[in-house]
Order: sequence, then C-alpha cells, then structure tokens
Amino acid sequence: MKSKDNKIWTVKDVLFWTSDYFSEKDIPSPHLNAELLIAHVLKCSRLDLYMKYDRPLAEKDLSHIKKLIKSRASHYPIQYLLGTTEFYGIPLFVDEGVLIPRSETEILVDAVISYIKQSDQKSWTILDIGTGTCNIPISISNSFKDSEKEIHIVATDISERALQLAKKNIDNLKIQNISLVQSDIFDKVTVTFDCIISNPPYISEREFKELPAEVSEHEPKEALFAKEDGLEFYHKILLNADKFLKENGQIFFEIGAYQKDGISKLAEQCNYKIIDTKKDYNDFDRVVILKK
Ligand code: GLN
Repeated sequence: MKSKDNKIWTVKDVLFWTSDYFSEKDIPSPHLNAELLIAHVLKCSRLDLYMKYDRPLAEKDLSHIKKLIKSRASHYPIQYLLGTTEFYGIPLFVDEGVLIPRSETEILVDAVISYIKQSDQKSWTILDIGTGTCNIPISISNSFKDSEKEIHIVATDISERALQLAKKNIDNLKIQNISLVQSDIFDKVTVTFDCIISNPPYISEREFKELPAEVSEHEPKEALFAKEDGLEFYHKILLNADKFLKENGQIFFEIGAYQKDGISKLAEQCNYKIIDTKKDYNDFDRVVILKK
C-alpha cells in the first residue's frame, strides 16, 4: 500500500509507528499492544509478524489496523478490540457485555482447585455467582478434566448478554459439566452445593473516580460496582447462603483490597467465619474462604 506521500508501509513500519504512537498516548506495553493488533488484522501469530517483516500491507488491512490503533490510543481495552483474552492459560471470548477476566481471579480459582484436590470426596457440586465470561467454572472444569473427580458446576449471571458469551466459551471449549442459569444471585437456584464461588462487583461509588478510564468508561458498570461500600453482593450472598450450601460447604470470594474486615463482620452476623485468606501479587487480601 502507498500513502499520500507514496510511502509503502511494510509490517515493520506499521509496527514501529504504532508502538511509538502508543507510547506517546501512555498505553502500557506499547510494543506488545501494537503486535497484538496487527497480528489480529493479519490473522497470524505475533511471531509470524517477524516473518512478514518487509511485506507491504494491503490497503484494506492498513485501514482496518488504523481504526483499531485509533480506538486503542483512546484507551479502549485491547481485549475488546481483539474479542479474546486468556485466563488460566485458556483462550476466552470477551465483549463489552462482560468484565475482562483479571489475573488476580486466578488466585480464587487456585484456592478452589486445591480445596477439591486435597479432599477425598469424589463428587462435587459448585455454584459460581456472576459468572461473566464463565472464566472461573471453565478453569475449574478444565483442571479436573482427566481426573477421577466428578464435578458439576452451575454458573449464574443476571445478564443475558453475559450468559450468551459464557455459552459461546463453553461450546468453543466443548465443556460438558457446566450449566448456565440466568439468575439474580440465588433467585433461580434450586439445589444445594459443596462450594459457592463468587467474584462479584465490589467497587464502591467512592472508588469510581480512582479507576482508570479504560475500566470505568468501557467495562460494564453492573459487573464493577456495588452499594454498601462495595459489600452489597457479599452481604446478599451471605444472608441466603445457608439455603444453598450443603453441610460443611465452603464459600470462596474474591474481594477488594480493603474489604476483609467488612466481610468478616457481615459473615459474623450471618453465622459464617473466614477460615482462610489468600493474598494477591501486591500483598493485598484478595480471596477469603468462609464456613459456618
Ligand atoms: N466471574 C467473572 C470474573 O471473575 C465476572 C465477574 C464480574 O462480572 N464481577 O471475571
């Protein structure tokens, strides 16, 4: 392709131009972002870009890349532009109707997996409340796919759009042991479980201003924010958990950095207690495990 000044744009030119432009616009990991977007348009891997380094770009690819560069430079999330992300080593579809899975949530998944592994119990029923992309159930299911354990997971979300995407992810990965239910927390849940898991919305209205625009302007508000200082959904779950948890069942929550004390108080009021806490990579309390 030739631009107005007759310059032929090769893959290499576009890569370096984009990476510099993203740096100017304060996009984190500018070179990686440039590679991901260009590889996405050229339908190849990031590594393949270097095999095509001196190849001139077709007009239509260049104009597609330009469009994506413009969005990304205005801090639109790269995962939504690509339509995919990776969680727990698994490729997942994402769109604007769901929260983009975060690496911290892998700590929650790890906690559940090690709890199941260290027990002799063979058959497990698990409930994930507010499943979004279905990242948590999919990672758990995938971890036990060649194991003796029989796992069945019910994944709920209030959002129909989220559930459509969850279904797309489950179908794409050919997973058989996850059922999706549209439900406002326990609303449409009728059975009891060994574990209840949730990474609910937990950002308080007060914290809204501190969020990067990339998050507050583009990710779904109903997946981010909660009343009661961010504790609304923990409270609602704890108030009713009794009816949906089997004897000796456990609850696994991802929590906000400063929410452990608040949750501990709510738990006490509802006759639960925190029996374990996991820290994240920044040393914040990130996961709490609760029991009667
Ligand atoms: N369960 C999903 C996740 O952990 C969605 C969470 C949410 O929407 N708050 O990423």
